[in-house]
Formats: sequence, C-alpha cells, structure tokens
Amino acid sequence: MAKRASSEAQESVHVEDIVLLLLKERVEQDLVPTIVPGSGVYYVVAGFHIPAERLLRGSQKGFFEVKRHLSFPSCGTCRSTSLILEILCPSCKTSDLTRIDLVVHYECGYMGSVEEFSTKSYGVVERCPKCGKTLKRVGIDYGRPGVGFRCQNCREIFQYPLVNVRCDGNHQTTLDKVNLERYPVLSLSRESWRVSRFVDMLQIIENELRKSLDLDVSILEMVRGRSGVPHLIHMLIRSSDKDVALMVLDEQTELTEAMNVVSKNIDLGIHFIVLMDERKAEELSRLLNPQYFTVIPVNFQNVDEIRYKLVESVYSIVAARGV
Ligand SMILES: [Zn+2]
Ligand SMILES: [Zn+2]
Ligand SMILES: [Zn+2]
Repeated sequence: MAKRASSEAQESVHVEDIVLLLLKERVEQDLVPTIVPGSGVYYVVAGFHIPAERLLRGSQKGFFEVKRHLSFPSCGTCRSTSLILEILCPSCKTSDLTRIDLVVHYECGYMGSVEEFSTKSYGVVERCPKCGKTLKRVGIDYGRPGVGFRCQNCREIFQYPLVNVRCDGNHQTTLDKVNLERYPVLSLSRESWRVSRFVDMLQIIENELRKSLDLDVSILEMVRGRSGVPHLIHMLIRSSDKDVALMVLDEQTELTEAMNVVSKNIDLGIHFIVLMDERKAEELSRLLNPQYFTVIPVNFQNVDEIRYKLVESVYSIVAARGV
C-alpha cells in the first residue's frame, strides 16, 4: 500500500493546508525564505511562519518549484542559521561599549570623545584633556575621525570594534569565517496551480463523501510511491483496507497530464477514480486500464451530477472491498 508521505509528525500548520489556501485565494506569490533573528530560516506563507526544514522536506517539496536561491550566514562550526551579532571591545572582548564622537590630538596622540576636549560649551573642541594644550584648528592641531567606541569595561577607545556572530549552540565565529546556507525561493508548481481551477469543487465533494459515506477524505496529498517519488493526489480516500486516489482531468487537460496520471497509478499501486470531462472521455479514457482506473465522465458545470455519480462510484468501490 502507498505510504502517506504527510503522516510524519507535524507541529502545527500543515503544508497541504497552506497550499490549499494559496490555491483558493489564487495567491501567486513567491515563497521567500527569511531569517528570523535568533531563530533560523522560515518561509512566511499566508501569515504563517513555517520552518524552512518543514517546507523543504522531501514530499512537501512536490508542491513547489524552485525559482532562485538566497544565501544566509551560518555558524562556522555547526552551520546553524540562528545567529546573533556581537560587537565587542578588541582589547578585553566584552560588549559594554558606547558610541562616541572621536577627537584626536595630533601632537600628543591622545584620542577621546569630543566631550573630553570641550571645557565650556558643549561640542566645541578647546583643550586636550591629556596634555592640556589649547586646540584651535581642525585638521592641523586636531582631527575628527568620526564615530568610534569606548569600552565601559576597560575604558579603551577605538574606531573599529570586533564583530562576531554567535550561534544558538554558543559557537563564536568571526565575520571572515561565517558559512553560507542556500535556500530556494519557491513558487507553487504548475501541477499544484492546475488544482486552483477546481479546488472549490474538490471541497464540495470532499464534504459530500464525508457526510454520505463517512469516509476519511483529504484534498491535496503528497503520497510517496514505490520509487520513493512523491505524487500529488487531488483527493485521497482512505478506507480500512485500501486507499483510493481521486484525480480530476478537466476540459483543459492535455495528453501529457493524462499520461502523468498513469505513471502515478503505476508507482502508487492503488486504485484511481478519475473525474473526466465528458468531452475528453473518448480521447483520454483509452489510456486508462479499467482494472486500475474507474473513469467517471462528467460535466464540470454540473456539480450536483458530479456529487451524485461520485458517491455512487466510491460506494461501489468501497463496498466491493468489503468495507
Ligand atoms: Zn554553532
Ligand atoms: Zn575593553
Ligand atoms: Zn594632547
């Protein structure tokens, strides 16, 4: 029997539900990985933060296609992307620093904050606090190199602090030794997008099958085949002994898509019900061996007819299997 790829433990939001939401809302957005500081890489989809590892898990990947990649810095030791930036004193390596406006007295070499050089009015350089000389001309007597830092621990004054990253495993990495992790920017795959044409109908018949036949039914499932490849199934109907897959081949279905359904069937080895546009039935149903496929020709404008025919067909298949 085909193994349900989605039965792995999932903490909160199901990726299938997210995909369904995107299809229903017809949201054609790229799923862009982002760093949540101190926490790692996430995809923000429809307002939900989904850890990248969960979205990129083998079977879930089938819903998406890769558009491009983004790289994020990671720990030089353990490759964690959960990093915080540390600005440290180069002398004593502590982080209690304040920003100061630097002044340097060229003659004696003393460097300090502008406040130390001002005696009377705030911000005007007058006298060197170290040698006591009067300072008049900027660029000649003294310089203003800009912003610097003072360590409140060891009182050292410096222009360039030590910049490190620290990971959630407490490893420290200097900036020149950080690693990079590549994550894909994703969009829904063409095969997923196809479902947006009939996602409303799928939800109606899902409810009908639950209500009328009390079956365990779910829309959009990635089911792993014997080859290990995950296949997108439009609806999975679970009965106690066997699963049944439902696929929709509407009026826009091309021959290659029908062939794709055949290869899914071979790899999954479960019975398929195919809701097929009645105008396509003659052309496409020849591809589908009745031993493995129950083809139901329908008019997709008539949802009531679909409900009726489907319930009847599912009942006969499930009943024939002794449930
Ligand atoms: Zn680390
Ligand atoms: Zn220090
Ligand atoms: Zn001086």
